Amino acid sequence: MPGTCKACDGDINRRNEKVFSCFLCSNKSHAKCLKIEDAEFKILQKLNNFKYICDECLILQNSEKVDSLKASIDKCLTAIENQNQTINSHGTIINDLLQKMPSSFQKDHVPSYASVTNKSTVIVQPKNTEKKVSETKAELLGKVNPVENNLNISNVKSSRSGGVIISCNSSKDTKKIVEIVENELREDYNIKQLSNLCPRIRISGIPKEITSEMFSKSLVHQNQLLFNDVNEDYKVVSYSSQRKSDKYLQAVVQIDTVSYNNIMKAGKLLIGYKYCKVWDAIDVRRCYNCCGFHHHSDKCDQNFPICPRCSEKHKVQECKSDILKCTNCSMLKATNANINTNHAAWDINKCTVYKTHVENFKKIIFNSQ
Ligand SMILES: [Zn+2]
Ligand SMILES: [Zn+2]
Ligand SMILES: [Zn+2]
Ligand SMILES: [Zn+2]
Ligand SMILES: [Zn+2]
Repeated sequence: MPGTCKACDGDINRRNEKVFSCFLCSNKSHAKCLKIEDAEFKILQKLNNFKYICDECLILQNSEKVDSLKASIDKCLTAIENQNQTINSHGTIINDLLQKMPSSFQKDHVPSYASVTNKSTVIVQPKNTEKKVSETKAELLGKVNPVENNLNISNVKSSRSGGVIISCNSSKDTKKIVEIVENELREDYNIKQLSNLCPRIRISGIPKEITSEMFSKSLVHQNQLLFNDVNEDYKVVSYSSQRKSDKYLQAVVQIDTVSYNNIMKAGKLLIGYKYCKVWDAIDVRRCYNCCGFHHHSDKCDQNFPICPRCSEKHKVQECKSDILKCTNCSMLKATNANINTNHAAWDINKCTVYKTHVENFKKIIFNSQ
């Protein structure tokens, strides 16, 4: 999945590009931009316990210790350099081995919900709010001809005040639209990239008589003031009861950020004749194999499991430990001695690393819209 390098702001496009993904915020940086040579990168890649944490996250973690940390990183790099020389001297044997190793950095670390599509969306908004949608479309057609520019447009929608929302199947195409509009129509139009990342809410206490179809309709029609009319896109991700005996149903719904803020402020939604309670449901995926975030266990490239209870190398079913130790928080112990590791990796109320990931994910969602 393409992304942007945090250091140089340049694109990260190729799947096997040498990239570090921050353990805490998942932002990516070219290895080159971090001044890591290819040979060093290969070594770091092989270390099971190596986690890269970007400068910003380090500072947030523990600002006073940053200097000493940087010194120890320098030491590590020197140590790695020495190792590097040793390994280089082993020449072809090591190279053969490296080629057989799975690459742990080829994975997509971009935060995304599984259901999120790859399409890329922009909104073109006339500065003159009296303008009609048809006029905006006509002016766009004159300057950004989809055929001449070879644009693969998947959807066009009207927005308020003469705005037009355009979705393309690739971000390359939306980039092209942004470029042309900014160059040739900037006097009269604003253009903004919309994000595909959407927050989620959980709605509890829905009476069992309400079918999922009724729910979908009630959601928007009975709560019109809370929904943002620019972007009526919402998606019911799940609709079910937790246990068979439950009297009530629960729904998880993906919505745009404006509606999310309105609804969270209201704290409830009217469904049928009942006000149902609303909860924040923004979360990040945790891998069942390595306990890392933002990927699924079947895409995990660590070939042994890490126990989410005790952080040893075994499956949770085989765990006999009485003492809980979160593997993710243990990784942070080196940078923050006060961190609590005495919980399972799935404990979303106690896990600092999980909470940091959710906060960072929220920032990404809300900054990108
Ligand atoms: Zn870069
Ligand atoms: Zn970071
Ligand atoms: Zn994993
Ligand atoms: Zn265990
Ligand atoms: Zn934890």
